[in-house]
Amino acid sequence: MKFSELAGAGEAPDVEVVAELRGVTKEYPGAVTALGGVDLTITAGELVAIVGPSGSGKSTLLHILGTLDRPTAGTVALAGHEVGELSDRQVSALRARHIGFVFQSFHLVPAATALENVTEGLRYSGVARGERRRRARAALERVGLRERAEHKPHALSGGQQQRVAIARAVVGQPKLLLADEPTGALDSVSGKAVMELLHELNAEGATIAVITHDRELAESLPRLVRILDGHVVEDTRPPARGGAR
Ligand code: ADP
Repeated sequence: MKFSELAGAGEAPDVEVVAELRGVTKEYPGAVTALGGVDLTITAGELVAIVGPSGSGKSTLLHILGTLDRPTAGTVALAGHEVGELSDRQVSALRARHIGFVFQSFHLVPAATALENVTEGLRYSGVARGERRRRARAALERVGLRERAEHKPHALSGGQQQRVAIARAVVGQPKLLLADEPTGALDSVSGKAVMELLHELNAEGATIAVITHDRELAESLPRLVRILDGHVVEDTRPPARGGAR
């Protein structure tokens, strides 16, 4: 089953802007400027690597893209919504509906089975319980773990746990999948399998941004955005209609 068939959604138009950051600045107390005016546009269907040395602002950028944090200045638009105009409650709803997260350390619920963990990805979707389980099963099958649905995380390998986490992140068909060092805790074979899965999901329509330290991995992705000291210093594919600068 294809990603785009999981919830029966149609094809996205070619140049749908999924995320648009303009002049995004993030300052922390103590005069730390984590981001110093970032412009970044991600359109539907992209697979973007975000790279940069430790402390360059990648996590801050991911948190702002994922609406987990708000910028000190600048604007963020996600799935057509100006995040700055929304209440915290509205932002939470936007995040639940449109953003999927994958973390280096999986963040699965240890006491829950793989299927229950994936079902959690539809918790705020308004989808009825039986349908949530059906979609969760389909997502698990999509990541190659049909036979592991009743296993708890401790009975799965790291690579399998990350695939469960990916199934959880995509089961609600988010507009944007954000992955923070998704292969960082995996051996190279499992890491490769996880990256292949992300490539496949992208080929089936998912829009994905991946933070990585891994140069080789980053260079294998169609677009690379390099961050240094809170600034975008390289973007291998600046979108044609990247907004006002
Ligand atoms: P990266 O993910 O590239 O390692 P970060 O976004 O985590 O970079 O950090 C960028 C800068 O912001 C660093 O100088 C870091 O020390 C600082 N920083 C990050 N989070 C906080 C915070 N909560 N409070 C103060 N400074 C922070």
